[in-house]
Amino acid sequence: MLLTLAVVFGLIMGSFLNVCILRIPRNESIVWPGSHCSRCGGTIVWYDNIPLVSYFLLKGRCRSCSGEISPRYPLVEALTGLMFGVFFYSLVLKAGVPLSVYAAYCLLGCALLVSSFIDVELYVIPNEITYLGMVFGPVFSFIFPALHRPPGSYVAVGAMEVGRWDALASSLCGILVAGGLVLMFVVLGQIALRREAMGMGDVKLMGMIGGIVGWKLSVMVFFIAPFFALLLSLQLLLRGQLEKGHKIPYAPFLSIAALVAIPLQGPLIRFLDSRIYIFSLLWS
Ligand SMILES: [Zn+2]
Repeated sequence: MLLTLAVVFGLIMGSFLNVCILRIPRNESIVWPGSHCSRCGGTIVWYDNIPLVSYFLLKGRCRSCSGEISPRYPLVEALTGLMFGVFFYSLVLKAGVPLSVYAAYCLLGCALLVSSFIDVELYVIPNEITYLGMVFGPVFSFIFPALHRPPGSYVAVGAMEVGRWDALASSLCGILVAGGLVLMFVVLGQIALRREAMGMGDVKLMGMIGGIVGWKLSVMVFFIAPFFALLLSLQLLLRGQLEKGHKIPYAPFLSIAALVAIPLQGPLIRFLDSRIYIFSLLWS
């Protein structure tokens, strides 16, 4: 029942994210005016604006001009609904994460979805999103320090609480490590390849991720992302669509990696901890 509610809320949120994807890069207000067709400008009435349902009822065409509605709309709605549902199931129902922490991950997921779709379309990641996200992480951590408790500790009896200042430090540390990792590769890429593999937008996007998921999960996200990039590159290569110097936006891969890593944070962080343990034995 609660899970269904989470999915429905995600679908509605997805509908709003579509507005953000369309309007943020064009510097338009995301609250006013109401939804309108991007082709004929006709106002979209509420019953034509129901997430997923309306798209299929209208068979993907605008009611007034019968122009094609981009399949991006139902795709974003479905993805957001799925994300809200998976996070709710794995984090709240399974791991016992408080709703405040769940909300933070969902907001991060929304920011990542919007950034990715804008990056795919226009090859930019809006600063409005990443700067806001990098401020949101530390502020939220200070108000809800539970965000930085180790995964698995939410259900344990007598689990250690994280202090406000410690949570704030974890968040800032996450921004520095996550952003720093990408920045390192941007600089190395400039020197070694003399071309931009990743940009400053990716540095800020990763910083935003780090501020919420902390440095450990950020490291995992950073190393998982190239696998998704490789999968797509291979597919493009096989279809002969990958020309030399072909520009591929990198935000979607960082985002997919983060969205996969968040529900799997327990095993991923344990994996990293065990590596750190092995290295600490080697050094001592
Ligand atoms: Zn229209």
